[in-house]
Parts: sequence; structure tokens; C-alpha cells
Amino acid sequence: MAGASVKVAVRVRPFSARESSRQAKCVIQMRGNTTCITNPKLPKEATKHFTFDYSYWSHTSEEDPNFASQRRVYQDIGEEMLAHAFEGYNVCILAYGQTGAGKSYTMMGRQEPGQRGIIPQLCEDLFARVAREGSPELSFSVEVSYLEIYCERVRDLLNPKSRGGLRVREHPLLGPYVQDLSRLAVASFADIADLMDSGNKARTVAATNMNETSSRSHAVFTIVFSQRRQDPLSDLTTEKVSRISLVDLAGSERADASGAKGIRLKVSRDPLRPPKKRGRPPRPHLSLTPPPQEGANINKSLTTLGKVISALAEAVSLGVTPSPHPPSGGPGDFWGDPPTLPRPQQSSKKKKADFIPYRDSVLTWLLKENLGGNSRTAMIAALSPADSSYEETLSTLRYADRTK
Ligand code: ADP
Repeated sequence: MAGASVKVAVRVRPFSARESSRQAKCVIQMRGNTTCITNPKLPKEATKHFTFDYSYWSHTSEEDPNFASQRRVYQDIGEEMLAHAFEGYNVCILAYGQTGAGKSYTMMGRQEPGQRGIIPQLCEDLFARVAREGSPELSFSVEVSYLEIYCERVRDLLNPKSRGGLRVREHPLLGPYVQDLSRLAVASFADIADLMDSGNKARTVAATNMNETSSRSHAVFTIVFSQRRQDPLSDLTTEKVSRISLVDLAGSERADASGAKGIRLKVSRDPLRPPKKRGRPPRPHLSLTPPPQEGANINKSLTTLGKVISALAEAVSLGVTPSPHPPSGGPGDFWGDPPTLPRPQQSSKKKKADFIPYRDSVLTWLLKENLGGNSRTAMIAALSPADSSYEETLSTLRYADRTK
């Protein structure tokens, strides 16, 4: 992504037991940050090459330079994003890919030693840093929320009574938010781990009850991180707030592929887009209620996410900052150097670049302040190595390639 701040990684998981038992062939090769995919039905010359910030391999050994343990993925991506959050940026890490490709493993991971994913490692690191850097002048507070978006409806995973359908509203200064979403204060990694645990259970239980799988919903874990500095001389207190959004996206497989059979694709008017009214200024305060949707909105929100990220890339390459932070939340609010952002400038392409289609899906609307101009984003595309997943894997690689 030209001049932009999206880091893109791809990560291939080991063969599953099922793939191994069917003598699956590996269609992926990696060298440095290049990932190659070979169509099992075509001659080798038809291999396609893609370059990303990182290409992670799984099923060899630690000596392979592309081999990526959970620790390494966190060190490469999570640590950098956490550092940005301490600088005052909003950050976002997204895991994309077909169901079973390793998104949850990358984001949450497993309980066993060395198997924890980015989210628990980042939370643990955050509290370690807070303990190290806190002082009478500098204090921190951490709050978390955990929500799920299924068919454009938002459900609070930290409120056992939440049945979904929470209202998405827009604050004139702070941007989109979910009304009545639990935002719980946490004081330690143990607190956050408990909340993550109950949220993950809530997700699984709801998916079972609905006879659905959680692979069809997006899970968004958000940490709101505030740093308050008190000037001992003037007694003036200044605050900067960063939002860290960690997103396990719904499976990217096409709606007619395995996981989503039986879902009817329905194209309806966008629930978030108000009817067009010529000559009227936009309403300063919006109240949005996502109506119940039948059908698959998954592909639509993933497509919109891709469009948003590429539109942002275009905007940055044109020197436009389409979505600045709200005044109170930007980096450099008080201490530290202000970020060197390109100065907005008029150009014939500005108008196009200025329009970022955030409102085309609930997911992108809610992530607006985490994807926009003054934030830092990383995407990890999870891949299966097997020939049986060739088409899906190629489409994941293409998606990841477009977000660079
Ligand atoms: P998704 O969230 O994309 O549906 P999962 O993260 O649940 O997929 O992964 C499917 C299975 O593959 C799980 O059993 C998971 O533990 C395993 N897995 C995924 N990625 C890796 C990896 N990099 N190394 C080892 N096992 C993995």
C-alpha cells in the first residue's frame, strides 16, 4: 500500500489431520517475504508470486527463516502495534482467511505454553509496560469491550443477556460507537484473560444455539487505553486515548462454499446508508439500528473492508488525510512529537479519495477510527497449504495483495 500504514502478513498453517489423511499436496512456497502458489492442475510455470511484509511458514522447523511461532508473529506485528498505541495512535490488527485457515489460532491461539495468540500476548505486554512506566505523574487506565457482528447485527459478548441488535450510533466528535455495549475496566492481565474467556464462550454458545458457526461472524476485541499525565509544576492534566481493535474476521469462503451452504444471498438496501437527499447537509448525529438481515452479509463486509483499505491507500498516496482522529484522541496531544502526516492538498482525484465507504458495512463503520488516516493497521491473512483449498487460498492472497 503506497506510503500507507497497513502491514500485511500471510501465514500458512500446517496440514490438518484431514488433509494429511488425504495425502494433500502443498501448493504454497515461501522465500523471504515472497509467497508463491502453484495451481495443482497446471504446469509449474503458472506459479503466482506475491510479496508481503511477512510470509510465515508453519510446518517445518525453527531453522527455516520463514518459520513463525506464535511468539515471532507477536514480536513482528503485535509489539509494533502496541508501541503505536503507547504513542497515542489507534491501532487495528485483522485476521482474514477461509474458515479453518488459522485466524483464531493467530489471534487467540490455544492455552498450552507457546501457543497463545496475538491478543493474550499483547494484553500481557500492555500491563507489563503499564507496571514499568506508571508513576505519580503518569497513570494509565484500560477498558475492554468484546463484540460480535453477525449478519450486520451487533452482540455484546461481555453481557450474557445481550441477544444482538445493539444500536450503532455516531458521536459527532468521537465517531461511531455501539450504544449500551459493555466497556469494562480491567486492572491486570488476569482480569482481561477472564473477560476474553467468557466472551469466547459466549460466542461459541450463541453459535451453537443459532445452529450456526462462529466462523460466520466477525469478533472485535477492543482495548481502550488512556494515558494521563499530570504536570507537577502547573498541575495540568492531559490525556491521550488509543483504541486497539483486534479482529477475527468471518471466514472469507464464498457463500456457496462448504461452511455457508444454505445461506441465501440477499441484496438489499444498505442499512447504514441513509436515503439520498439532494442539497441537504449530513445530519450531525446519526442513530442507526441494523435491521434483522437474512442472507450472507459476510462477503459484503469483507469486500467493503477491502475497498476501505484500498481507498485509504489511495488517499494517503494522494496526500489526503480522509479520516483524522477526533481532536482529543490523536497522537501528539500532549507529550512526544506530533506525527508527520502528509498535508491535505487539493487535487482532481481528491474527491474520489476523500470518499471512504466506511458506512457500507457495520464492521467498517465501527472500525472507522481504527482504519482511518491517523491510525495503524496490520492484516494477517491465514492460509491452508493444501491443494484442495487452492482456489480459496489464491483468493485470500489476492485480497491481501490488494490491501498492501
Ligand atoms: P479459523 O479461525 O481460520 O477458522 P483456526 O484458527 O480455528 O481457523 O485453525 C484451524 C485449526 O488449525 C485449529 O485446530 C488450529 O489450532 C490449527 N492451526 C491453525 N493455524 C496453525 C498454526 N500456524 N500452527 C499450528 N496449528 C494451527
